[in-house]
Parts: sequence; structure tokens; C-alpha cells
Amino acid sequence: MQKSIERIAGDSEGVSYEFPVFRFDGSDKAAPSAYLQAALHAGELPGVVAIDALVPMLSRAEAEGRIKGNITVVPWANPIGRAQYLYGDHQGRFHLGTRTNFNRSFPLLAAPDVTLLPAHGTVDQRLKTRLLQLSIGHDIVLDLHCDDEGLAYLYVHTSLWPAMADCAAAMGVDAVVLWDEDTDGTFEGASIIPYQNVPADVARLDRRVATTVEYRGILDVDGALADSDAEGLYRLLVARGVILDQALSTSGSFTGIVAPIENIDMMPAPRSGAILYEVKPGDRVAKGALLATIVHAPGEAGGRTQVFAPQAGIILTRRSRRIIRAGEDLLKLVGDRKSADARSGTLED
Ligand SMILES: [Zn+2]
Repeated sequence: MQKSIERIAGDSEGVSYEFPVFRFDGSDKAAPSAYLQAALHAGELPGVVAIDALVPMLSRAEAEGRIKGNITVVPWANPIGRAQYLYGDHQGRFHLGTRTNFNRSFPLLAAPDVTLLPAHGTVDQRLKTRLLQLSIGHDIVLDLHCDDEGLAYLYVHTSLWPAMADCAAAMGVDAVVLWDEDTDGTFEGASIIPYQNVPADVARLDRRVATTVEYRGILDVDGALADSDAEGLYRLLVARGVILDQALSTSGSFTGIVAPIENIDMMPAPRSGAILYEVKPGDRVAKGALLATIVHAPGEAGGRTQVFAPQAGIILTRRSRRIIRAGEDLLKLVGDRKSADARSGTLED
């Protein structure tokens, strides 16, 4: 394994940012290559600790000559967000200097060609360019995130499904959300949309992997989960031929939830207040089931407002905080059919 340090100059003199990159050289030029990054939203750490558990497994495979395809690992992809604290609270989702989400405004290139990437911009844009320079060209691109509280699930572009079902099975996730429109420039969108524009023999979508991995909730930073997630990532790399491991059994077929993103109901809160949840991630609910009660005028008659399921489905996520503003989303319900909420079609991470 080679470790190198990436340096991103800041927007003022005397400030710069660094992050390490690990590279494992594969022995077979024809084997698929893989890129893994964690904590683009810099406070989302389940993927960081999973990578910490995975690297020794990769090093063992390297020592035994079992790495076939090149592997690039960025354990903590966002040094800018990692350093952002505001009045004691960590702020890893938006760049404070530009108010831009760290997982938005990636350039959606016309082709998978890093020479098309913009060279200029503010420091967060330069970081995004650098991450794409590191990742584009790999057959497998995994962007490790987490939700507020939630199941383990993947976002996958429709062009990669069901070809990626083996990956979902290998990782042992609970659900897969399929999307086909990204107008905001997520990292995942920037990793797969360029391949939609090139001939099929260049795109090779049958062996391509691009996904935003949602490793449950923000507090699910746990040693046992890190170990099992690392094993899931390792199984994926073996299943796709990046690593050779004949001792590993096949992971079987994917039996979790698969739903188009249009089926997700985001459930905007009708009032501001304190949330009393009646459901948790993984619960199956019927249409009309009580999802949550908002206590908006405590102690007063009529001070509670109930929120009901607009359709039957599975609770995918809910908020980690219990204070909510009117219009803010309470949870993600993966419905059995298309949501009546028009916002539900865009990639939400
Ligand atoms: Zn995220």
C-alpha cells in the first residue's frame, strides 16, 4: 500500500487542507478497479470506521498477492468540512464559506474524462474536482455516507440495476433506492452520468458500480458494525474480481427492499415543535398509520398534531434530532407505490 497526501490550497494565504490517499496496485490490468471514499459529509463517520477495519484486510490480501485490480481509498474525503465548527457544533454537510452542500455541485461531465474538469473555483469546488480526478476511471466507485437514523441502504442509478444486485447482497444492506435524475451534481451523479453519454463498449455498465452507501444513522459509529461493514465491502471487492479470495463463500441473491426514488414520501412536518415518533427505521406501516406526533403548543388544548402514513410502506429513516420546523422532513417512508409528493424524485443525501 502506498500512502500519499493530497493538498488543497485554501482561499486565503496561510490556509491549506490535506487528506491521505491509499493505493493498492493490482496485478491484473484487465481486472476491475475500485475507489472508496468516506465522510464527504465530513461528520458522517460509519464509513470512516468501516474503512479503518477494511484496510488491514486489503493489506493482508496484498501481502498474499491476491489484489487483482487497482484500489484507491480515501478514508476521510473532506478535510474542509472536517475542520468546520460553529459555536462548538460540528458542521460537515455544507461549506460555511459558500453555503454549498459538499455533496452537491459536482460537475456532471459529458464524458468520463478528467481533462473536462474545471480547474478553478472556491476551495470546496477544487476539492470536488480533486475527488473526481481521483475516482473517475475506476470501475467501482463507493461513496460512504450515513443518514440521520436509518437502515443500511444504497442509492443506485437505474442503468446499473439489477446488475448491482450482487453488490447489495455482498454488502448486506437492507434496501436499494433507484434513481435516474440528478440535477444537483451529487458525487454519485458525477460518477455515473458521464458514462450514460458514451458508447456501451466504453461505459461497460454491466461491470460498473457507483453508489452512495447510507450506513444507517449518524450515531451508528460502532466497532462491531464497522467490522461487518468492512466484511461487506471486502465481499463486494471479491465478488467483482478486484480481490481474489477462494475461501470466501458467495453471498447469495439480494432479498432486501428495492424501490424507485419516486416511491419515497419525505413527510414534511405540518407544524414546528418536538417530535414524538411512533415508528422507527425498518417498521412496516399501513396506509393511515400514525407516524409521529408534533407537540407544537405544549400544555395547551389542541397542542399536538398527528402525522399519518399517506400510503403503506417501510420506514427507511427518521430524524436524529427531535426539534423540527414546519416543512422540514420528518422521515423517509419507502412506499409501495409512487409518492404524491413531487419532491420525491431527486437524489436525497
Ligand atoms: Zn451524506
